[in-house]
Amino acid sequence: MITERSVQNIIENSRIEDVVNDYVNLKKRGANLTGLCPFHNEKTPSFYVSPAKGIYKCFGCGKGGNSVQFIMEHESFNFPEALRHLAAKFNIEIEETETSDEHKKLKQHHDSLYLVNQFAEEYFQKTLLETDEGKSVGLSYFKSRSYLEDTIKKFGLGYTSSEPAGLTNSAKEAGYNLDLLKQVRLTNQYDKDFFRERVMFTIHNLSGKPIAFAGRTLRTDKKTAKYVNSPETELYIKSKILYGIYHAKKAIRNLDECILVEGYTDVISLSQAGVENVVASSGTALTEDQIRLVKRFTSNIKLLYDGDAAGIKAASRGLNLALSQDLNVTVVPLPEGEDPDSLVQKLGSTEFMAFLDEKGEDFILFKTKKLIEDSKNDPIRKSNSITDIVNTIAKIPDPIKRSVYIKECSRLLEIDETVLMETANKALKKHISEKWVEQKRDIARKERESKQSSSDPDEPPPMMDNGEYPEPLPAPAVSEKIQSGYYKERDILKLLLNYGDKKIPESEDEDLTLGQVLITNLEDVIDHFKNPTYRKMIDMAREKINSGDAANANFFINHSDKEIRSMAVTLCSEEFEYSHNWWEMHAITLRTQPEPDENFFEEGMQALKYFKLGKIKDMMAENKEKMKKEDADVILLIKTHQRLLEMRNELAKDLRIVLTH
Ligand SMILES: [Zn+2]
Repeated sequence: MITERSVQNIIENSRIEDVVNDYVNLKKRGANLTGLCPFHNEKTPSFYVSPAKGIYKCFGCGKGGNSVQFIMEHESFNFPEALRHLAAKFNIEIEETETSDEHKKLKQHHDSLYLVNQFAEEYFQKTLLETDEGKSVGLSYFKSRSYLEDTIKKFGLGYTSSEPAGLTNSAKEAGYNLDLLKQVRLTNQYDKDFFRERVMFTIHNLSGKPIAFAGRTLRTDKKTAKYVNSPETELYIKSKILYGIYHAKKAIRNLDECILVEGYTDVISLSQAGVENVVASSGTALTEDQIRLVKRFTSNIKLLYDGDAAGIKAASRGLNLALSQDLNVTVVPLPEGEDPDSLVQKLGSTEFMAFLDEKGEDFILFKTKKLIEDSKNDPIRKSNSITDIVNTIAKIPDPIKRSVYIKECSRLLEIDETVLMETANKALKKHISEKWVEQKRDIARKERESKQSSSDPDEPPPMMDNGEYPEPLPAPAVSEKIQSGYYKERDILKLLLNYGDKKIPESEDEDLTLGQVLITNLEDVIDHFKNPTYRKMIDMAREKINSGDAANANFFINHSDKEIRSMAVTLCSEEFEYSHNWWEMHAITLRTQPEPDENFFEEGMQALKYFKLGKIKDMMAENKEKMKKEDADVILLIKTHQRLLEMRNELAKDLRIVLTH
């Protein structure tokens, strides 16, 4: 495990401009550098690098972070991998503590399992390319699909003969332990090969290591299953992996879209034809883990399926799940009698992509139309269909997206919008409460797990094949901008991050910083922070500052919580200027701009006052509600009201604003 000191050393010495420059052509613009964003397609640069702050930020797609996060994002590395990459680039020596013996053993164990699989992959390939049976049966099958030799090598395709223990014996001869062969399930309990007389497909994990195999029989007798997959093992958890993801991940990111097909051969054919952003879920509906995997690279999924509608039904559950993870889902029915393979052969990659764009249809609207068709003249079926669609819509976390769908579907279904909205809200409530229960269970489970294992914070849990950190739980689906006080909370945090370290000019205590002033003044209203992320950050800052440390941008940008990190980057890269319009719309409080570097103290005070004003208004509203109750202590409530009113007016006078109500 890399020591904390070493981590800090690497972060401090990895100049962001040098790191990004390897991938992006940067041009100077003022104090910043700018270029075309490597994470989304664009023609005019909206990607910025700030050498002073040590961060990058794209105003097009929202990606941002420090050097380590840039490398993690760009190279799909995990945290330790990114650190090692940077250390090598800048010649920084890495200090490591001994990993625990148990952990080391486990890692060694997994490495040896990968090696066995690697041996098998090579063995299957050799059998395919160098033996008579392999050439006449296996290779001619792949040739019939027009696979080139490069493709066969790239995807680790192979063949296994009818010999009962061909692989097992070769592996033993090469010195591999029979026990390991059994653990990866290549050898069965009778010491024979698990796969026999099949063309072989290697299944790779996200980092390209072989974790399992699939074998397709070329026999036509109906008793043999067409495809057989490796049983699940320590390395291979079917619901967590997508076939082809290793080869597709770069293209998925660059094109900002993931094409989902049914079979292994579809993936390979499309990839060979130049459509590389393609993966398969191997016949099953998408799982939550698979969706999370896609989401690391894009939020757009395009499902191709043969036009006969059975495919779409099977995929429906997975697609609903994808919607609930805020992915955009498009479906593309293929022309009758065509599969992705035949179609791309016919059209070529450019026209194939154009076909997908043209025929692709939004999943929810597509589903709505289908259900209308199916339930024509049948009122009961129609009402079931409506419930079905509304439930699907309710799964979308973004309220704006939801209302757009409600509008569109009410038009298609010829049902009043408000009726649909009400039904959707009911479903949404149910959905949210289910989610909360799930989250609580999740948190409890994680707590249990963390108590049990003493795993290193910068090492991925051993059973994860992609070395990923556990994702933070998604925030509850509330549009934060609609919440009152949103921008006031944001302003306070923005000031804290950007100027928290700065000394207050002309103050009696020479060392007094803006951070200390803000935190002290927030003590009694801290519970008033509504946005959960801001609240978390304020709490962290309070703890830091109260123990005499600085809670500056660096602390948050390098925080271990992904959500905090990305919020910190956003807050640091937002300009402190707003158009007149914004001020009207959101009551933006930072008005003495555009010189925040000089006016940060005034800004801080002003933001605090606005924040408190918001709290007082809320308290007044609460008080009013209490008055309506029958058993209300009216005298006390009126006194409270009076006191709040005074406080409010005082603040308002201070802020020189006119209160309208
Ligand atoms: Zn971007």
